[in-house]
Amino acid sequence: MALVVQKFGGSSVADTDKIKNVARKALREKERGNQVVMVVSAMGKTTDGLINLAHQISDDPPAREMDMLMSTGEQVTIALLAIALQSMGHKAISFTGPQVGIITDAVHRKAHIKRINVKKIKESLDIGSIVIVAGFQGCTEDNDITTLGRGGSDTTAVALAAALKADVCDIYTDVDGIYTTDPHICSNARKLEKISYDEMLELASLGAKVLINRSVELAKNWNVEIQVRSSFNDNPGTLVKKEDKSMEDVVVSGVAYNRNEAKISIVGVPDRPGIAAEVFGRISDSHIVVDMIIQNVGYNSRNDISFTVSKEDFAATLKIAETLCKELGAEKVISDEKIAKVSVVGVGMKTHCGVAAKMFRALAENGINIEMISTSEIKISCVIRESDLDKAVQAIHNGLIINAEPGI
Ligand code: ADP
Ligand code: ASP
Ligand code: MG
Repeated sequence: MALVVQKFGGSSVADTDKIKNVARKALREKERGNQVVMVVSAMGKTTDGLINLAHQISDDPPAREMDMLMSTGEQVTIALLAIALQSMGHKAISFTGPQVGIITDAVHRKAHIKRINVKKIKESLDIGSIVIVAGFQGCTEDNDITTLGRGGSDTTAVALAAALKADVCDIYTDVDGIYTTDPHICSNARKLEKISYDEMLELASLGAKVLINRSVELAKNWNVEIQVRSSFNDNPGTLVKKEDKSMEDVVVSGVAYNRNEAKISIVGVPDRPGIAAEVFGRISDSHIVVDMIIQNVGYNSRNDISFTVSKEDFAATLKIAETLCKELGAEKVISDEKIAKVSVVGVGMKTHCGVAAKMFRALAENGINIEMISTSEIKISCVIRESDLDKAVQAIHNGLIINAEPGI
């Protein structure tokens, strides 16, 4: 008997027919003699709707209350799914994150899981129930409800698979696997049979929302093999697993994009030691993650520091930047929300050169200007205008994947 964790995202449970469909998927697994733990997201775009409600009242709603609000979305789905399974004549029980002992730190809206007490889940599995857990949520040691960051139901699923030592962790979604890029932007994207944790971690961190990066990090650390597959057909999905030798033959395995970043520049910052530490120290004290950073060459003993943050953190970061600008005697702060980031990823880049030049050429041939660049051993990212994004993803995907010469 295997223990199977199945996670279903928002589009897979968007209405009651879809909830009945995922109930049947779990039943099939149960009828094969396996134990089943389901993790589900809020229905469709419910979480966006809840956030929108809060913003109709306040521009800056308190994070604790946002968690209280957002966590209700998943609670609706777990109850409806348990009702669906029971009405089909099967034992099923729903639990919120706090009820199954998902204990997190107290960083509201992006909490990290500290531990999970699996006793309650195991007891329910042992009496033959399908266990349904609300994704995306947990609670602090003091019983305050927390959420794990947008897309966090993936994290719940992988964390539960690790804690329960599950045999299978299937992430069901609206596409039937991980593709060389978002198939909704490039119709010629190719499905991957497998991808290494490191490549998937980069793709996810760079915006490929098919898996949230924290879930991949957990999977890597706890050696949980994930299969990403479709809620709507039985096609084999994509395995996310340890790197093997054959994966290195592929130079560029994927193209990712992110529309969810904004750029802030502090212009005319005095050029002296310790300034960057002061700026980025203050931002990280507010639990804000900075992505790209560029410091322009100094003039008149002054520099411009530009950096990007996620759009959720934009308002808070702008406030910090404006305070810093005054304190440091800088000239002004400029912000820009109309940017996007496009990236290529591949472990083969460790051993092949020329990828950056090809990427820049694909952008240049399409008249797309590059505003920021960053690289690591297995990725290259460029910030461009948001309006150029679809064209950029298609050009890079065609140039570096579809029409790639062997070895580049
Ligand atoms: P869920 O609601 O199931 O969590 P998400 O919307 O978060 O689903 O993630 C699935 C979406 O990820 C797909 O519909 C697709 O548009 C997008 N996506 C982005 N990059 C990729 C990729 N490389 N492969 C597959 N899907 C991708
Ligand atoms: N419902 C949450 C969100 O929309 C979590 C998730 O779907 O994974 O971000
Ligand atoms: Mg998701």
